[in-house]
Amino acid sequence: RQLDMERQRIYELSIRDPLTGLFTRIYMQEVVQRLFDIQDRSPGNWLGMLMLDIDHFKQINDGYGHNQGDVVLRRVAAEVLEAVRGSDIAVRLGGEEFAIFVVGDAVSRITPFAERLRARIAAIRFEAPMAARTVTVSIGVAVRLPRETLLDLIQRADIALYEAKNSGRNRVCRAAAESI
Ligand code: GH3
Ligand code: MG
Ligand code: MG
Repeated sequence: RQLDMERQRIYELSIRDPLTGLFTRIYMQEVVQRLFDIQDRSPGNWLGMLMLDIDHFKQINDGYGHNQGDVVLRRVAAEVLEAVRGSDIAVRLGGEEFAIFVVGDAVSRITPFAERLRARIAAIRFEAPMAARTVTVSIGVAVRLPRETLLDLIQRADIALYEAKNSGRNRVCRAAAESI
């Protein structure tokens, strides 16, 4: 009985990141692969991803301490969870980096969704000692190409994220090479 509970606890830890409650990278690899398999069999459904990275997060840790950094991570993750649909998969990839996999009916929806999420995060009001401070994110968006691997999709979203960072942060960039 005790062993069963322990097993259950370890299983849950492997699925959810304890700090933010978002899914883990381990869980992502399993579940997103299944989504890809479904899409390959019925290509009518589109699938896209957002790659988010908090801007200048190191400044928050350095300026307010690591605990406050954790508060920010939790608050940003809560905003992500608020924004997504039940069928979306929100993941903490590590550190201050998140991925959201979106399955839907219209490719045109994903960039406006990313833009709304970006604006929501920039509008978060923090309590002291960060009452005067805003936190922003940069987002890279990519729509999965036919039979594209998870690694390749993540790489394209990552390049778009890099572009968002380089063009000034607090913005959304969409990956190129999308045949749609
Ligand atoms: P950029 O705008 O280019 O993304 O800059 P940045 O400062 O956000 O990026 P950088 O990668 O330099 O810093 C990320 C920091 O996140 C460094 C690391 O110490 C911190 N970090 C990673 N995981 C955690 C965590 O779980 N809690 C806290 N508080 N900090 C973390
Ligand atoms: Mg980062
Ligand atoms: Mg960052």
